[in-house]
Amino acid sequence: MRRAARDTTHGREGRLNALRDAMHTILLVEDNEMNRDMLSRRLERRGYRVVLAMDGQSGVEMAGTEAPDLVLMDMSLPVLDGWEATRRLKADPATAHLPVIALTAHAMSGDRDRAIAAGCDDYDTKPIELPRLLGKIEALLGASAGADVPTDG
Ligand code: MN
Repeated sequence: MRRAARDTTHGREGRLNALRDAMHTILLVEDNEMNRDMLSRRLERRGYRVVLAMDGQSGVEMAGTEAPDLVLMDMSLPVLDGWEATRRLKADPATAHLPVIALTAHAMSGDRDRAIAAGCDDYDTKPIELPRLLGKIEALLGASAGADVPTDG
């Protein structure tokens, strides 16, 4: 058991382990480096742990190996686009439960319906407005959003 292997809940390391356990993990699948860096930094500042994939195929694989709580899926991706990556996530019983928020560059009419049809749980458009996106993330994760960061000094 992973949790038992971390023997201590004492001291700085124990607090960091406890904090990491309390944090929600977001898998951000985004091929644009600038968008990826900016959004991941902003999410980390809000208390999320962020893991990154740079194409749709890696995104599908990491959804299986990284145990994220939610996926932010750019739709325009190399190797496998976000539409197909989402269909594969939702077709696999191991990852079908993961909430997926689609991110697209254009507020094309029909994109939202198309995202929902592909299995996405919600949809947002770039440029990202963080408060709006956080609202959607928190709604899908439930009441407890990012970790409560302890302030002990
Ligand atoms: Mn892209």
